[in-house]
Amino acid sequence: MRIERENPAHPEQIVGAVISTPPEAVDAAVRHAHRDFREWSREPVGTRLTALGHAADELDARTPELASLLARESGKPVSDCRGEIGFAATYLRWVREHAAEILRAHDTNSSRGRITLTRKPFGVVAAITPWNAPIILAMLKLGPALAAGNAVILKPSPLAPLAVSAAAELLPATRVLHGGPDTVQALITHPLVRKVAFTGGDQAGRAIAAAVGGALTPVLLELGGNDPAIFLDDFALTPGDFERLVLASFATAGQVCMAAKRLYVPETRLTEFVESYIAAAQRILIVGEPADESTTMGPVVTRAAAERVTGLVTDARNRGARVIPLASAPDSDGYFLDPVLVLGAPDDADLVRLEQFGPAVPILAYREEAEVLARANDSELGLAASVWSADEEHAFAVASRIEAGFTFVNTHNRTGMSLHAPFGGTKNSGFGREYAEEGLLEYTQSIVTHAPGAFRAGGAGLPAGAYPDAR
Ligand code: NAD
Repeated sequence: MRIERENPAHPEQIVGAVISTPPEAVDAAVRHAHRDFREWSREPVGTRLTALGHAADELDARTPELASLLARESGKPVSDCRGEIGFAATYLRWVREHAAEILRAHDTNSSRGRITLTRKPFGVVAAITPWNAPIILAMLKLGPALAAGNAVILKPSPLAPLAVSAAAELLPATRVLHGGPDTVQALITHPLVRKVAFTGGDQAGRAIAAAVGGALTPVLLELGGNDPAIFLDDFALTPGDFERLVLASFATAGQVCMAAKRLYVPETRLTEFVESYIAAAQRILIVGEPADESTTMGPVVTRAAAERVTGLVTDARNRGARVIPLASAPDSDGYFLDPVLVLGAPDDADLVRLEQFGPAVPILAYREEAEVLARANDSELGLAASVWSADEEHAFAVASRIEAGFTFVNTHNRTGMSLHAPFGGTKNSGFGREYAEEGLLEYTQSIVTHAPGAFRAGGAGLPAGAYPDAR
């Protein structure tokens, strides 16, 4: 079956199509991938990492063409698409540089015995990815999984399947498969799929977790967030900082897992904050055609997404909030929305309580630090957060009390990412980590061989019933 993808800026245009694999054809795909695994895992790690480096170079070379395709299928501004692809190549190079050391076998031998620890691949990894940053989110799985010697079957989102499929072809031991929930179910419960890596929303995450629970397959879940940005009463933001903050919420039209989704501002500094925020938004937000170099915000991804976000804003307005447009969407049949600031929404409004995943940001006033922490933490989600203060020490102290996997200080979202720090959720935002050493070790199993010194020739043995002591 063909799955067509429309252009969210021009829904009458079909950007391209992919062929979906029916559930009954998944077995053959997994068996091919398992053969890939047997060959690929026998390659020395140096050979595998060289191949990842070549893929990074190819990705760089093909960036203009892939960015243009990604902009048309996702609605993201083309400059953002280029940035995403460049970052994906940078990440693959990070893996190339660091994986050999992280994957190194350990062999310790002393009078207490010998222990060897090797980091072995799982086998076939199924990677299921969302539409909003499809290339980097796929490479965060492909890079470490392949470095460790796994083979991968990638199942991208039907909302942006084209550029990521082309990018995945640049990598060895990788197959791409498309399809709906039945296809995914057949894939992740296949007995030769030994690890599942999923990034996406809470609902699909639960369906994946339930299925792999039955199959006893380990899973990495990177789910959504409702990320608070907390401004302490000494915040000192320049006009440029305000622009960065605006983009932290409105890049990709707010459809980013770690976007700043609720802004908490001291009541005493609310007016000044809102004025600076609006001024920055008016300078930086240009809503328009994704292919235009000057565009900073495109349409949302589907008509359903546009209706959902509009509904959240209408509900907040009906509950007494003031809605302030920050820029104007073009008059178009595309799924463009005006980016808005929402003032005075109650904490239990859905716009505040849920991940809005769209260009509408509530600004919420607070009085006390303890109060703002309680309100920020009053969420089932706990992906990212930020704390803004002139006093970095104080910001770190407040950050340590936030229930989130990754808290930025004096920035938020992509300008604060580090290749050297693990990223992932707490609470219902998922489990497992991407990036850095932890992100690589997710795709390995620690395999140990141990000869206890006590039982070597000449060893003293252990008295009956004894366990080794910890010395
Ligand atoms: P989604 O959950 O709708 O889809 C993600 C993937 O799961 C897609 O490949 C989709 O086809 C598949 N899928 C959907 N329903 C399924 C089901 N019932 N069974 C099996 N597979 C299913 O998410 P999306 O709209 O593509 O992406 C948005 C969500 O992803 C947001 O919640 C966002 O916060 C989250 N996200 C999280 C991170 C992170 O790193 N934590 C990064 C990006 C996006």
